[in-house]
Amino acid sequence: MSRFWSPFVHDLVPYVPGEQPQIANLVKLNTNEHPFGPSPRAIAAMKAAVDDDLRLYPDPASLRLRTVIAEHFDLAGQGGDASWVFVGNGSDEVLAHAFHGLFRHEQPLLFPDISYSFYQVYAGLYDIRHETVPLTAALEIDPADYSRPNGGIIFPNPNAPTGRLLPLQAVERILQANPDSVVLVDEAYIDFGGDSAIALVGRYPNLLVTQTLSKSRALAGLRVGFAIGQPALIEALVRIKDSFNSYPLGRVAQAGAIAAFEDRAHFDAMCEMVIMQRDSLTLKLERLGFEVLPSGANFIFARHPSHAGADLTAALRERAVLVRHFKSPRIRDYLRITIGTPEQHRSLLGALEEILAG
Ligand SMILES: *Cc1c(COP(=O)(O)O)cnc(C)c1O
Repeated sequence: MSRFWSPFVHDLVPYVPGEQPQIANLVKLNTNEHPFGPSPRAIAAMKAAVDDDLRLYPDPASLRLRTVIAEHFDLAGQGGDASWVFVGNGSDEVLAHAFHGLFRHEQPLLFPDISYSFYQVYAGLYDIRHETVPLTAALEIDPADYSRPNGGIIFPNPNAPTGRLLPLQAVERILQANPDSVVLVDEAYIDFGGDSAIALVGRYPNLLVTQTLSKSRALAGLRVGFAIGQPALIEALVRIKDSFNSYPLGRVAQAGAIAAFEDRAHFDAMCEMVIMQRDSLTLKLERLGFEVLPSGANFIFARHPSHAGADLTAALRERAVLVRHFKSPRIRDYLRITIGTPEQHRSLLGALEEILAG
C-alpha cells in the first residue's frame, strides 16, 4: 500500500503464478513448462537474430509470423489468411486484449468455476461483469450450462487445472447456442492430444481461439501467444494493441516463433513424448492409490483418497519436488503435476512412496 497508488491499484487482486524458486536440483513440476526443450532450429534462428539490426524496431504487425501461423493451420482452406491471426507477448496478453476489447458488455461474461485463475483477474482489471459456471461433479464442462444470457464465454480446452478435454462437437454446441456472443476457447494445452477449434473459425464468426508457444513448443521464456478468428474479432485486438504497445514482439521473439512453427518434426515428436510420459505417470500414480483425472494436457490432476492435497504438496516440497496446489474448496485435495522427464518422474514417485509409507 502506498499513498502514491491510485484507488484502482488498491483494489486490484493480481494473479499469482506458480513459484520459480532459485533452488538447485529442484524437481520442478509446478508451472507446466515443457520438459524436453524447444526446437534447435528456433534457438539457432534466435541467435542469428541477435545482431546490429536490434537497433531497429521490429515489424509492429509481425506479418511474417502471422503468415507462417496462417499456413501452419491451413487457414486458406477456410477462406482465411494472416488477417485472421493476432500475435501477442504471451497468450496472457492476447487474452487481456480479448477481455478488454470483446467482453465488456451488459450481460455477464461466463467462465467455469474451476478454471484458469487469470480470467477472474482480467475481469477485475477491466471491470467486466462475470459469473462462474460450476463444473459438473466429475469436474467437466457441460455445454448445456452455457445457454443462459451472457456477454461472452471463455474456457480453456483442455481445462486448467483439471486437464479435462472437451470434444470438438461439445465446443460447437456452445458456439451454436451463443451466436451473439464471443466464445473464446483458450487452447494453451490443445496440442497434447485434443482437436483444435481452429478448424471451426471459418464457420463461426463468434469464435476466437488462443494458443501459446509456452507449453507445447517449449518457449515459455520467449513470451509468444496468438489468437485465430475472423477479421472482425482480430481487428478489435489490433485496435487495443495499437492503443497499448505497438511492438509486443521483439525481433528475437518473431524470429524464434517463426522457426518454431517451421520445425514441425520437432514439435510432433516432442508432443508425442509428453503424451507417452503422461500416460506412464498416470499408471504409476494409480498404482500408488491416486485417482487421476483423464488429461489432454501436459499435466495431470490427481488426488489421493487418504491424504490432503496441501499435506502432500508440503511433504513433496520438503523433498525438493514442486507441484501446484490450489486452495479452492472443490479442488483442494488435488495436486496438479506437470509432465516431466522420466528422471523427474522417478524422483516424484520415489518421494511419494516415502510420504505414503510414512
Ligand atoms: C499457460 C496458460 C496460458 C498463458 O500462456 P502464456 O502464453 O505463457 O502467457 C493461458 N491459458 C492457460 C489456460 C494457460 O495454462
